[in-house]
This record gives sequence, structure tokens and C-alpha cells, in this order.
Amino acid sequence: MKNVLFVGYGPSAVQAAKDLVGSLPADYRIVAITSNEGYWPPAALRAAVVPGWEDKPLACVDAAFPQDGRHVMLKMTNVVELRKNSVVVDKAHPDLGFEADEIPFEYCVLAMGSKYPYPCRPHPSSSFSQTLDDLRQTQSEVSRSQQILIIGGGPVGIEFAGEVASHYGKGTKEITLVHSRERLLDQSGWKEKLGRSLRGQLEGYGVRVVVRRKVVDAPEKTGRIEGGREFHLDNGEAIKADFVFLATGNAPNSDLVASFDSSVLNDSKHIKVNSAFQVEGYEHIFAMGDVTDVKEGKQYAHAKNHGSIVASNILALIQSPSASTASLKSYKPGSNLILVSVGPWGGAGQIFGFVPGAWFSALVKSRSLFVSDFKKLYNVA
Ligand SMILES: Cc1cc2nc3c(=O)[nH]c(=O)nc-3n(C[C@H](O)[C@H](O)[C@H](O)COP(=O)(O)OP(=O)(O)OC[C@H]3O[C@@H](n4cnc5c(N)ncnc54)[C@H](O)[C@@H]3O)c2cc1C
Repeated sequence: MKNVLFVGYGPSAVQAAKDLVGSLPADYRIVAITSNEGYWPPAALRAAVVPGWEDKPLACVDAAFPQDGRHVMLKMTNVVELRKNSVVVDKAHPDLGFEADEIPFEYCVLAMGSKYPYPCRPHPSSSFSQTLDDLRQTQSEVSRSQQILIIGGGPVGIEFAGEVASHYGKGTKEITLVHSRERLLDQSGWKEKLGRSLRGQLEGYGVRVVVRRKVVDAPEKTGRIEGGREFHLDNGEAIKADFVFLATGNAPNSDLVASFDSSVLNDSKHIKVNSAFQVEGYEHIFAMGDVTDVKEGKQYAHAKNHGSIVASNILALIQSPSASTASLKSYKPGSNLILVSVGPWGGAGQIFGFVPGAWFSALVKSRSLFVSDFKKLYNVA
């Protein structure tokens, strides 16, 4: 068997594997390696706040391939080293025919996504039931806390503030969101009206929004601080909190590639790919999703589209190994779109220059957080 090997099994990889599974020649198989089960970041923040939502961002990966077929899923397994024609994993799987920890590939697809702190991603190597327990624990910590400090006013900080404020209601908890920039979502490309609408909705729930300030003594991780303590802003102001949520950004999960060939990483550590998603200088190694340097927002809506193009290009190369990159399917970066929820009934976004508000956001995203799309993607009910 020749292996088409996936590192990571997030939305981009699932889409690519789905497109490949019925089309690969009989002497090829998919080997998917993932350190967790399926996880859905768009629903993770509500799952960390609202009891009953804890299972919504979780899907078993067991249903990925027919059990009696030739394709293999190695879950709860980390790829620890990338080589030119193989990877090394942190555990062998003799029961699945992998006696050694080195697994060769004909084609490799790097889909390691982004590094975010929990709960935007599960804790490393957490099983389904461990992550359920972690989310229930966070719900209970939030419920027991009175003074909630959110550090970072990007989409993640805004959505977490919205979940707590809308679930517990105005005035029940003291929620402060501290943002270092001039206004919420002030990166180039987003209209001022978008940040204004989101800020207005949070303030409507009683959230205090502090802009142009940094917390100088932020804790290392999200969680409860028993008894509470004071945190300080760069103007000296003290804010007391018994729960802190860190939303200060993310980074590409590209360490594997840094130790393989650091020249294929750009300054922000994203993997450099051509328009066919081949890693610069390696025609048989592809990368897709959040970990790449494609010039567009890091969103699953785009990542899924990468998956379909990668599947099609791997099939083309299998049929014609000397095919040039020019003859492969080419990807055009997706448009700049965003929808940010503020609890299940609020939110705002920017779509082709329009800035829809709470009604539209609730209809399209905030109520469902696309959970049924996620479960469908992973073939679970
Ligand atoms: C709070 C939040 C809300 C969001 N809301 C939206 C939204 O509304 N709409 C939208 O389009 N996008 C949204 N996103 C972004 C979206 O979640 C990502 O763009 C998407 O998950 C990227 O998919 P991916 O396949 O690139 O990687 P990921 O989803 O990051 O998956 C990568 C997988 O690879 C595994 N992995 C990594 N390294 C290894 C290794 N060495 N060995 C084995 N496995 C490994 C990881 O465990 C993970 O399972 C949101 C993100 C967050 C945090």
C-alpha cells in the first residue's frame, strides 16, 4: 500500500479525505494521524460557558472511514518528526499494522492548523471524555466566578464575553474586556461600524470595554483564580478578577516544519505554499488550512475549500506523476468575510462590504454555531 498521509484531522483534512476516499487507486490508502478527536472551535466558547453545550464541539473520528476498508485513522497520536518521505509518530500501532514509529508516505498533507490556548483548541492529546470533563469544569468555574476579566478584544475575546454576558444576563457578573488597540476589530479590512456594533452590543449586556490598554500581569492560562486577585493595566488601573480568559491571539502550528526545513516558513511561521498547495520545493508534500501562508482570513470556510483542491491535485499527480504545478488545480484566496457572535441572539459581521447586525448574525451563525455542519463533516449524528 502507498500512503497518502495526513498530519492533523481538522476541517481541511476531513474535506480532503472525504474527496479522496472513493477515488484513490486500489494500491493507495489514506493514513490520517491526529492528536485529538474532531473539535469545532466555533462552538467551543459556548461549550465552555453554557451547560449542555459541552458535547457540541466534539466529534469522534472513528466514523471517518469504513471500519473494514483499507484506510487508517491513527487517533490520539502525535507526529513528532517530518522527514522527506516519512513521518515519525509518538506511538506505534501494531494492531493497525504499524509496528514501527516511522510511517512512509508517497504524498503527505500538513494540516496542523493553529495553536490556540484551550478552550479554542482542546488540551493537547485529550480524549473525547477528557475534553468533555474539561469543558464542564470550565462551565462550573465561570458559574462560580463573579468578576471576569477577558484579555484581548479580537473575535475570540468578543465571543467569549458575549457568551458569558448573554447566558448569565446583565448585571449578574462583572465582565471587563481589555483590548490594546484603538477599537474592537480595527485590523485593516474591517469597517469601523463592525467594531462599533459589537462594542455596543457588549455594553448593552453591561460588559465594560476598555480600549488602548494592556494587562501587564496577565496569568499564563485561562481559568479560575480562587479568591480573586488584582490585575493591572499599563496606566496603573487595577481590575479585580476571579476568572481570566486569555484571547491574545494564535500562531500557526508549524513547529514540525521548522525542524524539517525552516526555509519553507515565512516570517510569521506560516508554511509557504504555491497556488496548488504544494510546499515550496516539495512537490509531494502539501499544506493547507490555517497553517499556510495563503493570504486570506484563517477560517474553516476557506480551509474546507483548500481540502478539495488538495485532494484533486493528489489524484492528478497519482495519475500523472510528472504533471507540472501549472497543470494542477489552482486556488484563489477567499474573500474577506467575518461573522462574530455575541451570544445566541447577537453579533455582527462584514460580508462583501456590508455590515449585517444582530438579526442576520443570529440567523446565520450565533444560534447554531454551525454545529450540524460540523457533525455532518465528521459523519456523526
Ligand atoms: C473561537 C473560534 C471561533 C471560530 N469561528 C469561526 C467561524 O465562525 N467561521 C470560520 O470559518 N472559522 C472560524 N474559526 C476558525 C476555524 O476554527 C479554523 O480556521 C479551522 O479550524 C482551521 O482548520 P484546519 O483544518 O486548518 O486546522 P485545525 O482545525 O486547527 O485542526 C488541526 C488539527 O491538527 C492536529 N494536529 C496538529 N499538530 C499535530 C501533530 N503534530 N500530530 C497530529 N495531529 C496534529 C490538531 O490536534 C487538530 O486536530 C474559529 C476559530 C476559533 C478559535
